[in-house]
Amino acid sequence: MVIPVGTIGSWTGWLQFAEKLDYPCKNAHLGCESTFMLKDKEDHEANCAFRFYKCILCPWKGLHRELLPHLMRDHPGKVGHGAEQVRSLTAAYCGHGHLV
Ligand SMILES: [Zn+2]
Ligand SMILES: [Zn+2]
Repeated sequence: MVIPVGTIGSWTGWLQFAEKLDYPCKNAHLGCESTFMLKDKEDHEANCAFRFYKCILCPWKGLHRELLPHLMRDHPGKVGHGAEQVRSLTAAYCGHGHLV
């Protein structure tokens, strides 16, 4: 199919359109009911309370909201440098236990 130039405008215009749509959180199957515009979705998913994490320092697994309490309790010397440090110590899992 040939789309005449001008029908959907520029690629940038298309991206701007796509960014205004609502997208469900990728953790929707875990119970997150939030929807977002594209640029906000990634920010949210990085901090979604329904995201599943695994600690790289021990066998612990759990939801994002349980992550910080775990690190503070079990690895108190490792959490002095904020969220980036926490992220580097953990790996996100999908709801089926697969690394994402
Ligand atoms: Zn979410
Ligand atoms: Zn741990």
